Amino acid sequence: MAARPAPGAASRGQLGPGDASVRVVLLDIEGTTTPIAFVHAVLFPYAARALPAFLEGHAFDSAVAADIALLAHEYAAEKAAGAADLPPWDGASGAAGAIPYLQYLMRQDRKSTALKSLQGRVWEMGYRGGELVGQLFEDVAPTLAGWHAAGLRLAIFSSGSIHAQQLLFRHSEAGDLTPYLAGYFDTRSGPKREASSYRCIAQTMEVAPEAMLFVSDVAAELDAAREAGCATALSVRPGNAPVEGEEHPRIARLGDLGL
Ligand SMILES: [Mg+2]
Repeated sequence: MAARPAPGAASRGQLGPGDASVRVVLLDIEGTTTPIAFVHAVLFPYAARALPAFLEGHAFDSAVAADIALLAHEYAAEKAAGAADLPPWDGASGAAGAIPYLQYLMRQDRKSTALKSLQGRVWEMGYRGGELVGQLFEDVAPTLAGWHAAGLRLAIFSSGSIHAQQLLFRHSEAGDLTPYLAGYFDTRSGPKREASSYRCIAQTMEVAPEAMLFVSDVAAELDAAREAGCATALSVRPGNAPVEGEEHPRIARLGDLGL
C-alpha cells in the first residue's frame, strides 16, 4: 500500500476509494450504516422497557436461566470488589430479582456479557414481532446489493454482539440484507481501536489486510485499521460527531467509495 500521507496531504493519497484491489469491505454500524440515534434512542430504551416482562415470561427458559446465573456471578464479583452503589439483589426472588441490577448496568452503559446476551434476546423478540425494525441510511441497501453483485465480499465490525448485528440486518427497513453479508465481527475479534483486530478479521475473511477497506465514523478505529494495512474511509453522516483532520478519505454515502 502507499505510504501514510503526511499531515495535510491530500486525503486520497493512499489505497482507498476507487482502488480495484479492494476485495472485502468491512463496515461499522453506528454512524456508518445506521444512525447513532437508533441504538441510543430506540434499541437501548426498548430493552430497558421490555426486560422485566421478558424475564417474567421466560424465567423457566434454560438459556435465560443461564444468562441470569452468569449475571449473578458478575454481581457477586462486583460486590466482592467493594462496589459501593450496587442495588440489592435477593437471589431468592428469581429472575425478577435481577431487574434492579440490570437497570443499574443499563444506566451506566456497562459492557456486561450477561446483560448483552439478555438484551439480544429481548431485541430478537422485538424484531420478530415487528416492533423493532433495523434503521439504515437510505443508500446502504442498494449499495450493498450492488457491491455484492459485483463480487465484493462484505462484513460488519461493531461493538454490538454478532447476534444483535444479524438481527438489525435481517429485519431492516429494506428487508433482509443478510444474504449480502459474508462475515460478522464483534469485540471477540479484539477492540476496534487495536490494529491486531483488523489483522484477525482479514485473516478470517481470507484476504491480506491491504485488500480490505474499513469504513467507520471514528478516527481512532480507522487509525488502527490503517496501522494493520487496511484501506480506510471516514463516514460523515447526520448525527455523527465531527472529526478533525484529513487523515482518512471522507465519504457522505457508501457509494462515494466508487468501488
Ligand atoms: Mg461507529
